[in-house]
Amino acid sequence: VPELPEVETVRRGLQDHVVGRRVDHVVVTGQRSVRRHGSDALIAGLNGRRLASASRRGKYLLVGLGGSSPQCRWHPEPGPQALVVHLRMSGQLRLVRAPAGSVAVAAHTHVRLWLDDGSELRFVDPRTFGELFVTGELDGRGVPAVLAGLGPDPLVEGIDPERLWQLATRRRASLKAFLIDQAVLAGVGNLYADEACFRARLRPGRSVGGLRRAEVFRLARALEEVLGEAVAAGGSTLRDARYVDLDGHPGSFQDHHAVYGREGEPCLGCGHPIRRIRVSGRSSHFCPTCQR
Ligand SMILES: [Zn+2]
Repeated sequence: VPELPEVETVRRGLQDHVVGRRVDHVVVTGQRSVRRHGSDALIAGLNGRRLASASRRGKYLLVGLGGSSPQCRWHPEPGPQALVVHLRMSGQLRLVRAPAGSVAVAAHTHVRLWLDDGSELRFVDPRTFGELFVTGELDGRGVPAVLAGLGPDPLVEGIDPERLWQLATRRRASLKAFLIDQAVLAGVGNLYADEACFRARLRPGRSVGGLRRAEVFRLARALEEVLGEAVAAGGSTLRDARYVDLDGHPGSFQDHHAVYGREGEPCLGCGHPIRRIRVSGRSSHFCPTCQR
């Protein structure tokens, strides 16, 4: 499941290869991918628009839409709008370089954006939980109103350990549930929560309200480190290989996981076998001797 580092890697690909291009034609073959407003609204929202920027908020990709080109005097510029993409379980954005028309369309391709340089941006999603939608309801920072409930993004806004501590002290939830709550921090999911807990030497099953201030500060630093290293490695691609970047390349941070997906394997710190338990309904990996 793509989390912040994977989505950030896709964002960087969009920034480098897609921003500046104009959408010439949109084909929707999977209605579930555009369930928020239907295919007509997506096509109308994207046709002729310039892909002006690529940003991210948590696990959401935001592509700013510029005006049509050439300007049409009969149709005034629409207000600021954005294409929002959420990959969820298995969604992929794939860039097919020109001439894209000759490149076979992969199974589970639900949306195709034909760009003005002959390349194509394709949305592929076997499990169909992902979605794309166009919205004009943006706040002053260009963030869609529907994402207003998200907490700060660790990369965009940074992690404020004092705020984390204030939030933690009032909760009864497990540390794991706290970390994957998108209102606490946007973009952290199961994998990076486990890795950050290991690095902070805290068990994911601990009650977050029972953590000491120094432990929460340690956790904030661990999150920063883990997310930063994972972004630098292009994210994690697990055995299901669902996550790949815009060019179809896997990430490499899975080679540096300390606990996630390593049940029964020796802890990198002490050699004790890594354990996997369920915490707040989520599979959680930890070392029973290094983490307290
Ligand atoms: Zn250990």
